[in-house]
Amino acid sequence: MKIGFNKPYFTGKEAGYIREAVESMKISGDGMFTRKCHAFFEKKYGFRKCLLTTSCTDALEMAAILLDIRPGDEVIAPSFTFSSTVNAFILRGAKVVFTDSRPDHPGMDEGAVGALVTPRTKCIVAVHYAGVACDMDTLRAIAEKHKLSIVEDAAQSMDACFKDQPLGSLGELAAFSFHETKNIISGEGGMLVVNNERFTGRAEIIREKGTNRSAFFRGEVDKYGWVDIGSSFLPSDIIAAVLYAQTEELDAIQARRKAIWEQYDRALAPLREKAQARLPFLPGYASNNAHMYYMVCGSGEERTRLIAHLRKAGIIAVFHYQSLHKSSYYRDRHDGRELPNTDIYSERLLRLPLFYELTDEQVSQVTSRVLEFYGLG
Ligand SMILES: *Cc1c(COP(=O)(O)O)cnc(C)c1O
Repeated sequence: MKIGFNKPYFTGKEAGYIREAVESMKISGDGMFTRKCHAFFEKKYGFRKCLLTTSCTDALEMAAILLDIRPGDEVIAPSFTFSSTVNAFILRGAKVVFTDSRPDHPGMDEGAVGALVTPRTKCIVAVHYAGVACDMDTLRAIAEKHKLSIVEDAAQSMDACFKDQPLGSLGELAAFSFHETKNIISGEGGMLVVNNERFTGRAEIIREKGTNRSAFFRGEVDKYGWVDIGSSFLPSDIIAAVLYAQTEELDAIQARRKAIWEQYDRALAPLREKAQARLPFLPGYASNNAHMYYMVCGSGEERTRLIAHLRKAGIIAVFHYQSLHKSSYYRDRHDGRELPNTDIYSERLLRLPLFYELTDEQVSQVTSRVLEFYGLG
């Protein structure tokens, strides 16, 4: 039996809610299911204001517009992340100053951020890699000292905390993803969280093609028109119907994912003890949302052999992030600093299958193959 890397999980209610949305004859944006999703996240996590978007990428683009990022501005972000994290700011003409990853985990090296600040720096994009919180105390101290904004790329961070505070509530703005590879999904989909009230009105306008249509529908203005720049960032209510079905099962999905994650971590512990490969490290301030189980191999060559070894047993393990500072788009624009930890994760990090329907039996098949590869079988 093959074990794929990811399998999207559907709770069973998605199709019924899509039908409801269709029968309500209102499938454009901000319909009933969109409102239910906003209310769900605002209540569950105490987010100030939630706005569904068509992707996390879109939510990040909205953040860059809201912060008035312009040509000449600088944005500090990790290199070991997805292109969207920084592309949103590049679209506004900003320059990205990349941070290295931490030696102990792939997240951004918060302690090194301060030295990268210049008079042109506008914001820090805090990417909570694998849903593991950045050290927000450190980032906030730097942001306060230099009057910078913090945007959280919380794409992988649903239901995770920094010291009991939900990720997504810590930056002025935060962006979540509901892409089918994340913990809860709508196929493509995302959400902008607005934690600073000064952005709420304008966020609605930017999301609605630069119009004040949202205020008009609430009866706050008697006609609506074009008042700012913007785009069409809001999803159809059909997408929100899928997401709403997922929110109803969020706790169950999280519980199962965490159980799988723990099973991996227990079974692979001998690798940690013998220092044959590195397993995930969680700083004391970060909770675990089981977005990902990864290991860091001893070398790139070892990773290639391990992938092949697993594939022979029908198990698909994958790696990701080509360092952005070495990407074909950015390498000539990068300031030339070496980012050695980023390069290590880029070459050696391997992600094991992790999805709701993965059985205990399948997890133990994966772990025994991994242990076998390291001669611990
Ligand atoms: C998935 C992901 C994104 C992009 O999310 P989309 O919803 O596909 O736009 C951005 N940043 C990170 C860190 C991600 O993991």
